[in-house]
Amino acid sequence: MTSKVLQSFLRENISDLKARGLYNEIDPVQGANGPVINIDSQELINLSSNNYLGLATDSRLKEVAKEAVDSHGVGAGAVRTINGTLDLHLELEKKLAAFKGTEAVISYQSGFNCNMAAISAVMDKNDAILSDELNHASIIDGCRLSRAKIIRFNHSDMDDLRAKAKEATESGDYNKVMVITDGVFSMDGDIAKLPGIVEIAEEFDLITYVDDAHGSGVLGKGAGTVKHFGLQKRIDFQMGTLSKAIGVIGGYVAGKAELIDWLKVRSRPFLFSTAVSPADAVASTKAVELLMASTDLNEKLWENSDYLKDGLKKLGFDIGESETPITPCILGDEKDTQAFSKRLYEEGVYAKSIVFPTVPRGKGRVRNMPTAAHTKEMLDEALKAYEKIGKELGLI
Ligand SMILES: *Cc1c(COP(=O)(O)O)cnc(C)c1O
Repeated sequence: MTSKVLQSFLRENISDLKARGLYNEIDPVQGANGPVINIDSQELINLSSNNYLGLATDSRLKEVAKEAVDSHGVGAGAVRTINGTLDLHLELEKKLAAFKGTEAVISYQSGFNCNMAAISAVMDKNDAILSDELNHASIIDGCRLSRAKIIRFNHSDMDDLRAKAKEATESGDYNKVMVITDGVFSMDGDIAKLPGIVEIAEEFDLITYVDDAHGSGVLGKGAGTVKHFGLQKRIDFQMGTLSKAIGVIGGYVAGKAELIDWLKVRSRPFLFSTAVSPADAVASTKAVELLMASTDLNEKLWENSDYLKDGLKKLGFDIGESETPITPCILGDEKDTQAFSKRLYEEGVYAKSIVFPTVPRGKGRVRNMPTAAHTKEMLDEALKAYEKIGKELGLI
């Protein structure tokens, strides 16, 4: 029998969300998540994935994944510390360390899980964490789990960070202080001011943690935001995900061998949750090998994103201040933004609207995620839809 308390909790809250237009209905994709997707038997140009390099459907990754199923089976069989550490996991970690330019890497089951694991393995209730106000949900949850004091600083505001770092370190209230930031912020596509952050961190002896989910495979010729700024030796935690540009699933921390050794004995999702499957591990390793061998996909990604950005700008749209392929088309009004995205869908383009409370009120936008797998024809078709709908709704 279902609890009456639970039943009324669920009913009240779901109907409240629906009444406020905040209940998200999920569109299932039939088939692969490529540059063109199928939803409800309709073909759509896909401008909403994080599959930056098109690797999620790359034939070279699929091939090694199939071979790994034959040689190693479909599951790792146990948690890493019992006997679920396969040779394939170690190869992946070795390859990632070479890619990131660090001594060692520990891999996890996802990026989200990695932030839950790594932050709380090092920080505790006697510590403080300086956290950019626009940091990703998994950073926020990872910080909360650690029970450290969370001190938010204004987005990418180095004066505010310095003042709060000074106050926290001079107060004598904390054993350790960490500064944590996204490498690339996913709503606006801006890059964290890592040189400034590192300078402040070195002045006040802060632990540095960069979540590079949207920077890996994209910036620094693929190696990420830290490499982009040449700061590999000056960031303690380079966290990344294998689910975005890498196209598979998983998360990792790259850093000094001593840090990685500690995470292997103290991070709970590593100790108590089974690792990614053999197919996932080899597909990720293959992706990293491809990125180390050639920058072709990375260049294609930037070419496509420049093309889309130029096209939208020429049409008269506001594409904000993005410094990365993330291309917001800022329409402002929430209703206009939602109507625009719905019309794009009808015209065969899948690009999601993002409105308050995910972004500030009056800053509603349709977010476009071009990838290396899109053709010019697909992008032209998307731009044609933008022009048609922009005129129809009186926005350009
Ligand atoms: C997507 C994302 C994650 C989570 O990564 P998954 O591998 O999908 O769990 C963590 N941090 C940031 C900044 C992200 O954008």
